[in-house]
Formats: sequence, C-alpha cells, structure tokens
Amino acid sequence: MLTRARLLSARWTLTYCQSVLGRRPAGYLSVACTRSYQQSLSVKTRFRLAISAHRLLASSQAKRFISLSSAPRSKMTTSDKPQQQETADTKTEFTNKKAFERLPKTIVPSHYDLRIQPRLKDATFDGQVEIHVQVNESTNIVTVDCAEIEISEAAFIGHDGKEIPSKDKQILKEMERIRFEFGDKLPTGKGKLRFKYTGVLNDKLRGFYRNIYTVNGEERYGACTQFESCFARQCLPCWDEPAFKATFDVTLVVDKHIVALSNMPVKSEEPLEGDGAWKVVKYDTTPIMSTYLLALVVGEFDFLEDKTEDGIVVRVYTPLGKKEQGQFALDFAVKTLPYYREFFSVAYPLPKCDLIAIQNFAMGAMENWGCITFRETAVLVDPNNSSAAGRQRVALVVGHELAHMWFGNIVTMEWWTELWLNEGFASFVEHISVEKQFPDWKIWYQFVDDFFSSAMKLDALNSSHPIEVPVGHPDEVEEIFDAISYEKGASVIRMLFDFLGEEGFKAGLSNYLQEFEYKNATTKDLWRHFEQATGKPVSTIMSDWTMKKGYPVVAADLEYGKNGKATLKLSQKKFSLLDQGEQNLWSIPMTVQVLPTNERQGVGLVKQMFDKREDNFTLDNVQETQPVLINANLIGFYRVKYSDKMLQLLVPHISSGALAPLDRMGIQNDLMALVLSGDVSVPSLFELWRSAYKNHEKDPIVWQNILTHVGRFSALMAYTDSHDEYQQYSWEILVPLLRQIGWGSKEKQGHLESLLRESLVDRLVKSGHPETVKTAQELFEKYLNGDNGVPTEIRRAIFIAATAYGGKEGYEKLWSLYEKSELQEEKVKMLVALGWTQDTALHQKTLDSALSKQVRSQDVVYVLAGCAHDVDGRERTWQWIQKNWEALKESQHPSLFSRGLQSVFNNFASEEKAQELEEFLKSHKLEQGERAMEQAMETIRIQANWLKRDGDNGRKWLQAQTFSI
Ligand SMILES: [Zn+2]
Repeated sequence: MLTRARLLSARWTLTYCQSVLGRRPAGYLSVACTRSYQQSLSVKTRFRLAISAHRLLASSQAKRFISLSSAPRSKMTTSDKPQQQETADTKTEFTNKKAFERLPKTIVPSHYDLRIQPRLKDATFDGQVEIHVQVNESTNIVTVDCAEIEISEAAFIGHDGKEIPSKDKQILKEMERIRFEFGDKLPTGKGKLRFKYTGVLNDKLRGFYRNIYTVNGEERYGACTQFESCFARQCLPCWDEPAFKATFDVTLVVDKHIVALSNMPVKSEEPLEGDGAWKVVKYDTTPIMSTYLLALVVGEFDFLEDKTEDGIVVRVYTPLGKKEQGQFALDFAVKTLPYYREFFSVAYPLPKCDLIAIQNFAMGAMENWGCITFRETAVLVDPNNSSAAGRQRVALVVGHELAHMWFGNIVTMEWWTELWLNEGFASFVEHISVEKQFPDWKIWYQFVDDFFSSAMKLDALNSSHPIEVPVGHPDEVEEIFDAISYEKGASVIRMLFDFLGEEGFKAGLSNYLQEFEYKNATTKDLWRHFEQATGKPVSTIMSDWTMKKGYPVVAADLEYGKNGKATLKLSQKKFSLLDQGEQNLWSIPMTVQVLPTNERQGVGLVKQMFDKREDNFTLDNVQETQPVLINANLIGFYRVKYSDKMLQLLVPHISSGALAPLDRMGIQNDLMALVLSGDVSVPSLFELWRSAYKNHEKDPIVWQNILTHVGRFSALMAYTDSHDEYQQYSWEILVPLLRQIGWGSKEKQGHLESLLRESLVDRLVKSGHPETVKTAQELFEKYLNGDNGVPTEIRRAIFIAATAYGGKEGYEKLWSLYEKSELQEEKVKMLVALGWTQDTALHQKTLDSALSKQVRSQDVVYVLAGCAHDVDGRERTWQWIQKNWEALKESQHPSLFSRGLQSVFNNFASEEKAQELEEFLKSHKLEQGERAMEQAMETIRIQANWLKRDGDNGRKWLQAQTFSI
C-alpha cells in the first residue's frame, strides 16, 4: 500500500528530475519517474532516481533550474525532502580537555550484588558490594570509579574460592577513582571483587543524597539517588561508564516504617535479624544496564496505581497527602508506554514503572529504569491550582523520561560524547507522545517557539559546541547537558524525520533498537540503520549538523526577469553574533515556496539541497508581485536573511494570515536574531511588529514567540534613556491583544489561549502597564481572600503586581502566602515575585532567604532570577552573590549553581561588566560550569555591542513615535 507520504515523495522525484535536468527526463529516468508518479516505486528506486538526477546535475556546468509544481495549499507536505549525496565536512572541534582516560578492559564487571543501609538521621550509609567480574588479563592492580566513600575492606575471590585481600590503596581524587594493589596477581577468568564501605548522604542532590522534607511542620528525612552522569561512584565503587553494563541485585536495609524503592519489584521483605526496627528489602535482578540508571529511593510516600494494556504496573509516588496530584501523570504514562511500544516496535521490558516525586531534586527528572524520579513541578498536577503551562510541562517531562526507557536504557550511548542520542531523541519523542494525547496543544508549533528557538539562541554563540562533542572528565560531561544536546539534538532529528518520512524513520529506528538491545551504540550505528531502511545518504548530510558547531544564515535575494522567470540568489555563512570569521559550509535541505497573490495561482513548492557558499537558482512562473518564502514550517535548522524587497513582499502575507503560523513566527524570529548580529537595525523589527502582527496576528504561539523578544528588548532598552518609551510602545502592541483574549476564567479555558494569557499578563505587569497592574492587584486581593476562581495562569503576574507595586504590605502578604503554600508550582512563582520588590531592604530579605531553610536548594535559581530582574536589582544580586559565594557554592548542585548565575549575568550589557565578572571567575572556579560562564560572558558582550551599535537607533525611533494605547 502506498502512503500519502510516498505518493508525495514520488511526485517530488519527478519534479526534482525535471528541475535538475531543466527538462522532462528521458529514457530510464523518464519511465521511472512516470512510474514513480504513478505511485509504484519503492523508496530505494526513488532514491536511485534522485541520485542519478543529482549526478547529471553535478556533471553539467549548466545552471540549475527549479521547476515549480503548482499544488493547492492543502497538498503541501513536509515529508518529501530530496535525497542528496553531498559530502559533509566532518571536522570535529575540541574543547579544552582535562587529563582523562577511560577505564581499561583488563577487568570488566557483569553483575553487582549491592546492599545499602542508609542511616537517615546521621546522614550516612553503610555499603557492601560484590562485583562479579571477568579478569581478561592477569594483574595485581584494579582501578575503579569511586568518590566520597570510605572503603574499609577490599578483596578478590577467584573462581576457585581463593581470597586475595588488597595490599594497598591509592585514592585518585582528581580522577574520582581508587586504585587497589593486591598481594598476588588476580587469575584470569571469573571472580568477584568485594568491598565494604561507608558513605555520606550528602545534601548536594547528587550521588546518594538526603532528602529533607516536612510533615505537619516536623522535619523528616528520606534519601534518593541521582547517578547521572558520573555519580554512582559516590554510592558504590564501580565501573561508572555507560558502556560497562551489568545486572544488579539490590538489597536495602531501612527503617521498617519507610517505603524503599529500586528499579525492580520487591522480591522479599523481612525484618532484619537481631534488630526488628529495620527491614531487609530485596529486589528482583535488573536487566543488563549502565550504572547511571541504578536507583534507590527511601522515604514516606503515598501512591496511585494503574496498569497499562500490556499489564505493566505503573505507580506515581507522591509526598504524603498529595496523592491526587499524581493522577494526571499516571493517566499519561499508562497510555504512553503502550504507544511507545508500538512506535518503536520494541516492548517495555520491566514489569513495573514507578514515577516518584522527590521534594529536593536538582534536575527536572531522571530516567532510572523502572524507577523514574522527578522534582514535584515536573510530575504533580493539582487539578484546581496547576496552570496549563504546569500541566503541559508534566506531560512533556513524563513523555521524555518514558522515551528514555528505550533511548538510553535499552540502547545506551557508547560514551557521553554521544549524549545527544539519549537526550536529543527523548526530547524529540516527548513531543510525539504529547501530540498523540493532546492534539489541540499544537505541540509541534510550540516545539519551534521553545526547543528550536532556544537551540538557535545558544548555538549562535562562539562558545557553543557541536552536538557530538568530545568529553572525558566527569566535570566536562556535566557541562553538556544543555540546549545543544537536548534542543538542537531534537531539532536536527525533526529535520531528519521530515527528510526520511515517518515510515522510513520508524523502520530505521526500530531496527537500531533491536540490534543494540541491552548494548551500547554510536551515532554512526543509528545513521547506518536509517540508511538501510530508506536508502538515503543520512550519514553524509547529518554529520554536517551533528559535528559542526553553529548553523548557517542564508541570505536571499530575488531578481524578477522576463517570461515569468526569476533568479533566486542565495549565499550561506555561519550565523554569528560576535563574528570571529569562522567559516563553515552546510548541506542545507532547502524549501522554497512561491506564494500566490491571487486565486488563480497555486503555491509553488520546491525542495533543493544548497551546499555551496553562493548559488543562483532560476524559478519559473513567478510574477513580480509574488513573494518567495524560504524554509517553510521552519524545518531546517538555519536562519534566513531576506533582501528588503523580498521581505516587503512577504509582509502583507503575514498580516493577512496567508502565511502559515510557523512561517509568520520564523520571519520575526530571524529578524530579531539579525538585529542582534548587526545585520538589521532594530527599528525594522519594531516597525514589523507594529505593521504586520499588531491587530492581525491570531495565533497564540506566534504571540508567545513575539512576547519572548519583547521581553528581551525590554531588558536591553533598560540600559538606555528611552526605556519608558519602549514600554509604551510594547503596550501599544500588546494591550489590544489582552483586550481581545481577556483575563479568562477558571471554568472556560482553551489550552493555548491560557498559555498566551500567562505570558501576556506577565509582560504587561512587569512593564508596569497601569490598567493591567491595577486589575492584577485586585485579583491578588481576591486570591488572598480565598477566591479560588482566579485563573491559574495569571497567578505569577498577580504575585509580581503585589510585590513590585504593592509596597511593604504587598510583599509581606505574599511572603506569608509562600510560607503556607503546599503547591510547589505556586511556590516557585512566589519566589520569583518576591525578588520584584522595589524596597531594597526587602530585596535583601529575599536574597538572604536563598541561604535559609525557607528555600529549598533546588529553588535558589528562582530567587536569583527574580531578584536580578532589573538593572539595580541585578547589581545588588551580583554583590550579594560575591559576598556569599562560598556558602552558595557549598549548598548548590554545580549545574544548578551555574544556571542560577547565568540567570543573573545574562542580562548585563556592558564590556566593563563582562571584564569584572571574568576577573572574579578567574579566582572563583566553577568546576562544572566553565562552559556556561563562557557563554554568559559572550552574551553580555553581544548585548553590549548591540547597545553601542544600535541602541541609539532604537532610542531615536522610539522618541520620534506617538503611541496609541
Ligand atoms: Zn533526558
């Protein structure tokens, strides 16, 4: 049976052959294309056809012709990209590397018998592990990963039962390893290594850490593991690298009243011999897996349970009294697991899957196999008080973690360099699961506004890195859990999905998962399977996008000629905000669309690989008034710089809505970036928002995207003397929108409208729009008086209105609400708002709370972001950080600390400030945040340059306007 995608692909083949030959193909090609068009060719044959056509093109010196096939808009597709053979430059870039070597394979583990007894009050644990190993080469030296634990006994037991105790040990602190020397050489073959040790339940939210929470005001203790990336070694001596897979038998000895969870179901539970206050819980053997996926969770929990259609038991564990908040995630997970089984054609291999909300958690969530841990805001939904954004976040995060059960857990990256295989794929697939269950959320549009845009923002920096980045030492590994591995990874997979079509994509993926089940794989392995499934040259094209840093900007100009012909002139260069003259060339799958200007004209859609520095293409059947759009639906990971004339022809199609929402988003998104890079002056963007979007734009997601940029310019214009005019300008654009969508009600909510209202009211309150602030303050009073009808999505805005414009009284009211609130989602909104006070003493109080018991260490980042929201607050926050540097560093997970710092630094905008920060950071090292700090310094310089270059143009333009509010 031929799917719609294949039919369209066949039609593309004919068009493509015509286009590259400049005429209808003859001979074999002609027959084949005609058959292709008549729906009868296989993917492989179509691929051969395309390649033949492409070779003909490559061998001729003739100009390329692109023939425009006219098709009604409803038939447009994004699933029939041309196949190409261009060779990508596979140059790899290297970062500054610390000395590091992977563990040798002299001895390899196959199974761990692990017994852990946490002593929660003392914040310590006792451990014992027997590691079944294969000794490949006889040696008396064994080195394993190990950090922050004290080993009291180490011995080797040979297959003949002979025990060889260790003679000496050396702690390799820098490498986070321990090296044992044995009295005799260990014989080759099977054996066991036995270690007895003690460790500390730390408070840094990694390794095996203590989770402090309160029940009715009383402090209680639990414990939890976070082993990814390289922290299993803080709980047991082990081969802590993803490729050393093994099975695990876990035993936990815990207080008899407490819940104890691990990856597998409980096998037995009995009182500890000789001490009935403890119980010994043993779990079934895990599948073969990497150490970073092992999990131990102990504490007090409630839970909800359900089963998937395959009989897998799914539970959501919540803090006591919050059981009903687990229902949304439970329903989502129960439907998603079977959906993934079908999508990947590989079953979920464990009998159970727990989703556990942990009160203190550094990341969003962690995909421990069968025992997934989350921070509360990423898994709990309060039916009455969670916002649309909160609900959506939970769906995406749960979808992401469940995707890891396949990507990461069944098949694991060979080394951290290929982290993106885990994270890029899970980030892509989470959207597939959400789209399936909530089609009205238009999650793929939101993907472009969120994932795609943040990836482009980070990857425009010279301090970015390629998706596949060589890393070694654990500190370097931690640094690449960023928008490049996740968001850019997902964006290039989206591009690939479009290029291969759903059928080929799924076939390749399923074959890959089956070949590497319970093993490790590399990016090349995945490309090979896609190539085998589709016959397309995946490796050569994709390596451009995974092995090069950054992405291109395509400059486009159009010359209309005679007889309906037009010449499209394209050139590409690396997009850069601080140009360092880096040159690179990408194979760009281009989509060129000629838009109709009357009902008689169809939409001309052409797909073409653009892989030269500059090239000209001839378009047929184009009238002078017809605009030409590039990168339809923002599938390609590149920016477009239109000539003025091309842009002017597109503008009426933005305001009329004739352009698709993603294309309307793309034009202003690219223009914003071009303003920062110095290619375009800011008044052009201000004019565009006013003429093309204000009063015209209907799509909530396009507005979301605009609002992000309006906010960013607000932060920049605050460093000029025309910030007030800028706010008035923003009100002129945004207030009509608020009048249109209104303040909403709790009962009747469209999901997307609700998301937009949150960002819109937020922006208007933050910019001090009097009418909005007044309404927000009234709503805050209502909320304070127990009126639960206040829409959930505007709660952060009403909290900010209370603190920023409500004086000491408003601040105190919010502070006491914060102390009482039980819902984490609202508490973090309140923390941000508490930083918006204009009273310096209260601002100081908010900052100080970050180091008190009133704020969980995982939430300090919200305090810093809120306190640094404006020019003065940012400076005070920076002073406070310097004063409290050691205490902050001590209390924070390193990744969270550098994120918190970024949220403060990223809005500074002067060279002097960049130098001052750099100087400070020279003597205040951040072991796992160097890359993040480099990115922050570059961002400051980009903004400083923009202010110097274009700030005055913005100021003059604003001061020359009258605003209709
Ligand atoms: Zn992930």
